[in-house]
Amino acid sequence: MGQERERVNYHTHCRRCRHARGEAREYVEEAVKSRVTRLGFSDHMPFYDDRFGLRMPYAELGEYEREIVALAGEFGEKIEILCGFEGEYVREDRDFYEKLLSGKGCSYLLLGQHFYETKQGELINVYRIRDTAEYEVYSANVVEAMRTGYFAYAAHPDLIFLNDLAWDVHCDRACDILIDGAVKYGFALEYNANGFRREKKQYPDGERYQYPHEKLWERVKGTGIAVYVGSDCHDPAQVYDGVVETAYQKLDDMGITARTGLL
Ligand SMILES: [Zn+2]
Ligand SMILES: [Zn+2]
Repeated sequence: MGQERERVNYHTHCRRCRHARGEAREYVEEAVKSRVTRLGFSDHMPFYDDRFGLRMPYAELGEYEREIVALAGEFGEKIEILCGFEGEYVREDRDFYEKLLSGKGCSYLLLGQHFYETKQGELINVYRIRDTAEYEVYSANVVEAMRTGYFAYAAHPDLIFLNDLAWDVHCDRACDILIDGAVKYGFALEYNANGFRREKKQYPDGERYQYPHEKLWERVKGTGIAVYVGSDCHDPAQVYDGVVETAYQKLDDMGITARTGLL
């Protein structure tokens, strides 16, 4: 009994994104200390035109990849290190994802849809959503990304629920769209530990974390959808902290077994 779970994390940032602290090396050292066996860096993807702020500039992309690959070599006997990116899916940029994935450094992409495309074709920050009907459009964006095969899993698929809006039928539908898509395309979803690092907030229909939202995860249970816990650490001390352990525990309590091997 009690075989210990392999300690992995594929959702790691570093100071290059301009809103995390600590060098990539410090994250690696912390991971080794925490007995993590596989650490994937997934800093926020810099687009070639630097269209999204608050992340590493495109000019640093090559340097980031080389840094992570060098760390992978240096620490190779203690820990497996992967280089990836967390980024938005934008339909017009398929060439960009293919270029990233075919390069020497990057071995995987996480879908982190912080911006989504509206029906009018505008790219909107998720934090600016003021109408739950848009949640359905957001989920449709995520499902379109699932279909492309570029992404290993969807980081915080329930990010939309951070908005100060009461649960309604659009929220139900947004969850259904996500779940149906994940089942249809065999796509994995992330249970994001970083949501639990922030205070609970008061919403029109009660107090809760911004995300993960339990109404999504209740629906995931029993579907067979692959689930990962992502630390989404923005500080070396968070790589595999108590919050990550709690996230695994919460999944266990729901009867959901988290994956450790990257698909
Ligand atoms: Zn970040
Ligand atoms: Zn992240």
